[in-house]
Amino acid sequence: MWNWRDFELANHGVNGEPKEENFRFEQCPYPVDIQKDEVLIKTLYLSTDPALRCRMNESTGVDYVGPWQIGETIEGFGGVGSVMKSLNPEFVEGDLVCSQYGWPWKEYFVKKPDKSFQKVDKSLVGGKISYCLSILSLTGLTSYLGLTEKGHIQPSHTLVISGAAGACGSLAGQFGRLKGCDRVIGICGSDEKCKYLTDELGFYGAINYKTQNIKDELSKHCPKGIDVYFDNVGGTISDQVIKQMNKDSHVILCGQISVYNKDVPYPPPIPEETQQCLQQNNITRERFLVLNYPEKFDESLKQIAEWLLSGKIKVKETVAEGLVNAGPAFVSMMRGGNIGKQLIHVASP
Ligand code: NDP
Repeated sequence: MWNWRDFELANHGVNGEPKEENFRFEQCPYPVDIQKDEVLIKTLYLSTDPALRCRMNESTGVDYVGPWQIGETIEGFGGVGSVMKSLNPEFVEGDLVCSQYGWPWKEYFVKKPDKSFQKVDKSLVGGKISYCLSILSLTGLTSYLGLTEKGHIQPSHTLVISGAAGACGSLAGQFGRLKGCDRVIGICGSDEKCKYLTDELGFYGAINYKTQNIKDELSKHCPKGIDVYFDNVGGTISDQVIKQMNKDSHVILCGQISVYNKDVPYPPPIPEETQQCLQQNNITRERFLVLNYPEKFDESLKQIAEWLLSGKIKVKETVAEGLVNAGPAFVSMMRGGNIGKQLIHVASP
């Protein structure tokens, strides 16, 4: 029997940055037998997501995913693969399949497809199957539904986005522009990322939070104040944005990556001063979770695909090569090594 590889959790890490040593790349048996209704899948691409960080802890602190167990194959969120063998009437050899939940970080695996498993519509992805894990995935949906469900966007609005050069942020900025926002300003962690936002994606302005004064830069870029804030990071960046928000404005509480390496509840507590600012200015800050809107997925994906196919959206992906680099890719993404969506290319069809 041949051996194939999987990626495992080597140890838990509660407080602190994830490290490559937290993961282990191991050989595992090639799955030879499949039973009725099962398919054998070869993984082509894997998604890496900040929310996986909580699965490294003994308790995740959220109700929608549990912790990874030491020595077990990592279960990620999204993956795309090709069907190698099928005893399931719905799938045939050669089908491309995708799921947004529970894809194991393995080169090959056997699965009885549940309803999260979908055949990839090749006409939608235009030959780029990785799009199933970036723009046409929960990532694209998070950006789109965050704006439409919690943003209350109007054409005159100034939209600020933190984590702006990442997977969700880079799309949220472009969607905001297409939804008519007057100005979109991005906050991110390098000059290269800032340049990408303004020169390639059409952001009005970009702020490097590591080298620039966020308060001064926001005042300069947002003379009419901030109407909508798409918050991917939380912490001191968000405290400073909230101070410059207008009355009756809206925070889209999408993520708080700046605290994901700390053992705090989600959403984390915010400083008293920020809380007062929200109250005094009647700013909404409701928690947003994309998984709460399954009934809106199809309609939203249709709009996103339309924009994509008509060339109105640019998609950027940072792709690590090989399953062996899955752990390092996750660690790099948590440190800001990516522009756009961080993916792992495991194999070709
Ligand atoms: P990204 O592609 O944005 O990758 C993470 C980015 O976070 C890094 O590239 C880095 O960029 C930035 N970052 C890391 N540490 C810090 C820090 N301390 N302060 C500020 N920025 C930091 O990931 P995603 O687009 O997949 O996710 C973005 C956010 O959206 C996350 O908070 C995630 O949890 C959330 N999310 C929420 C969903 C929901 O349903 N609510 C669904 C999916 C994602 P930089 O170089 O700019 O620092």
